[in-house]
Amino acid sequence: MSDYSIETKCVQGAYRPKNGEPRVMPIYQSTTYKYDTGEAMAKLFDLEPGYMYTRLANPTNDLVAQKITMLEGGFAGVLTSSGQSANFFALINILGAGDHFISSATIYGGTFNLFNVTMRKLGIDVTFVDPNADEDTINAAFKPNTKAVFGETIANPSLDVLDIEKFAKIAHSHGVPLIIDNTFPTPINCRPFEFGADIVTHSTTKYMEGHATIIGGAVIDSGNFDWEQNGKFPGLTTPDESYHGAVYTRDFGKAGYITKIVAQLLRDYGSTPSPQNSFYLNLGLETLALRVERHCQNAQKIAEYLEANDKIAWVNYPGLPSNKYYGLAQKYMPNGTCGVISFGVKGGREAAEKFMNGLRLAAIVTHVADARTCVLHPASTTHRQLGDKELIECGVSADLIRLSVGIENVNDIIADIEQALSSI
Ligand SMILES: *Cc1c(COP(=O)(O)O)cnc(C)c1O
Repeated sequence: MSDYSIETKCVQGAYRPKNGEPRVMPIYQSTTYKYDTGEAMAKLFDLEPGYMYTRLANPTNDLVAQKITMLEGGFAGVLTSSGQSANFFALINILGAGDHFISSATIYGGTFNLFNVTMRKLGIDVTFVDPNADEDTINAAFKPNTKAVFGETIANPSLDVLDIEKFAKIAHSHGVPLIIDNTFPTPINCRPFEFGADIVTHSTTKYMEGHATIIGGAVIDSGNFDWEQNGKFPGLTTPDESYHGAVYTRDFGKAGYITKIVAQLLRDYGSTPSPQNSFYLNLGLETLALRVERHCQNAQKIAEYLEANDKIAWVNYPGLPSNKYYGLAQKYMPNGTCGVISFGVKGGREAAEKFMNGLRLAAIVTHVADARTCVLHPASTTHRQLGDKELIECGVSADLIRLSVGIENVNDIIADIEQALSSI
């Protein structure tokens, strides 16, 4: 498949049926796997290839992970039951109590809480940095126990575009990997490994599945990071006593990082997707390239419409030449960014609420990045737990409306916005 272009990989990647096999990827709805001898099964517990129990691995889940790995141009990947568990696993796989990592401050609210509250309780320290800070400022945030750097390609919901090459260079100069949450652009618009990222994560709940039917996540490894260079990652480079002394980097090479997630984290935390959900995810992936293209075309037109409308206070969309991230977006995502726009209605919070209540086609939901156009007011919903100062650090103002542009006819979406604005 590797010679084919990304649209073709979306449709036909990973599952390639042999003569007489089902044309569509089957759902292996089985928790367990049958072996002829006890000896054959025992080998699995030494981490030889094969399936023993679906909490660790399942053929349907593996095929879909392989497809996403292919789309990202990675070496190995694994699915998780949510985007939250994907980001948690990507970090906890290489960090433990007493360790520290650096994160861009403008990230998804759920991820911010995971890092700022729950992981701190586990003894893992984080420093949030302004993603636009210069290299010296970011370098100054490193400590001897810093083990990773994290950011989002396009932040949800602030839509800040990360300078991936800058962050990769800084992370590598300190001997640690750069982990990028690539949920919003998807590999159709940006492949962070091409710019030096080492690990990519996804909330597959968003564009990848694309229809708002299932929660899911993925962790993909480029295979490029050298975990043995500096002794900072003993979990990968020293024996795992819970697997008879397996050493992940020695025994699994470039697959070591993902094998450790499967063997330890899925085993112990159990954040495994259902094979049925992976089947839905795969259906979504088949049309990902088409849908992302339409989402971006529609969003571009709507962002331009909003920018020209005098009832709108401000518009934030990285595809607009007036946007402060336009240059970075052109560099990292020349074919389009994402379908999410944020903007403020003149008249602040009150006008925003009136506008949202007036919409007929666009629905108020806690979701983004599915086929249907929807809106959300983060300050009163997804980011409700955050104080004013944290909100600003996350790039969310109190009047911010997040519009997730769907794949309906763009004229219908604009007409809906127009009639809702007329009520203000
Ligand atoms: C939604 C989202 C998450 C969390 O994913 P879930 O699938 O909801 O657990 C993480 N990162 C980003 C950028 C998101 O948009």
